[in-house]
Amino acid sequence: MHNIDLVVREIADEMRLRTDRGEVAHYIPELARVDPNAFGIAVIDADGNIAAAGDSDTPFSIQSVSKVFTLTLALGKAGDWLWQRVGREPSGSAFNSIVQLEYEKGIPRNPFINAGAIAVTDLILSGHQPREALGEILRFIRFLADDQSVTIDEAVAASEQRTGFRNVALANYMKSFGVLENPVDLTLGVYFHQCAIAMSCRQLAMAGRFLAHNGRNPSTDMSVVQPERARRINALMMTCGHYDGSGEFAYRVGLPGKSGVGGGILAIAPGKASIAVGSPGLDAAGNSHLGRVALEALTKRLGWSIFGV
Ligand code: GLN
Repeated sequence: MHNIDLVVREIADEMRLRTDRGEVAHYIPELARVDPNAFGIAVIDADGNIAAAGDSDTPFSIQSVSKVFTLTLALGKAGDWLWQRVGREPSGSAFNSIVQLEYEKGIPRNPFINAGAIAVTDLILSGHQPREALGEILRFIRFLADDQSVTIDEAVAASEQRTGFRNVALANYMKSFGVLENPVDLTLGVYFHQCAIAMSCRQLAMAGRFLAHNGRNPSTDMSVVQPERARRINALMMTCGHYDGSGEFAYRVGLPGKSGVGGGILAIAPGKASIAVGSPGLDAAGNSHLGRVALEALTKRLGWSIFGV
């Protein structure tokens, strides 16, 4: 861990000096208020050693990183039947794009673009009250992070509920094709709240550990999902986790990763580590700019890209 510790501290120092920080998300007013200079990183290896630096204990809005956890939960409920509702191909378009939905009869390209994630949340909601579904999502994330203190930032949820017109459009469009089962406002209520879950890099890296270790949390030896499912979730993160920036992320970082507009990225080095970075400035595709830069430096220095050194 010594080497990892050193690299993590080096990277945090380097990121502090960078002036290219990207733009914080403005379309959710509450997110526009975050400190653009924040940067945190946490790496947890197979033995549970944690290397962390910067603002690694400051919670931020996980936003679309939540889609990894809701996908895991929904696969547990619906199994492969889930793929009737949502595809597994990269979209090559923005996270909130509507264009493909018309061509593809309301079936979203993948579970990580907004439309796909809304369809996944709708599946979790079926047969439950929104409060129960949200409770299930939050309990699952707390269990994965092994931390009961993870909560929802109600101000962020309310802010998106007031301004999330694109998501309302996506959900109504899917509803018209029969892809959503529940009333649109209930599904979106759960979706906006899952996106508003606040976690620190340390908590997020903890929650991702099962994906780095064949579906198991190596500290508790608890199985979260079968190895095959963990592998497939990683594959989806690699191909679709950064929207239209997924190719660039694979090229530069070489790890499965999932970003969120709060500036977080969860990245998985299979067999080695679960990694979370957070920096709120985004690039043009809506992915954390310094988060990606930091992960690129990390995988390069440690030789962790799955494509080779
Ligand atoms: N809550 C955000 C939205 O629906 C999540 C988007 C993201 O993180 N890319 O727009």
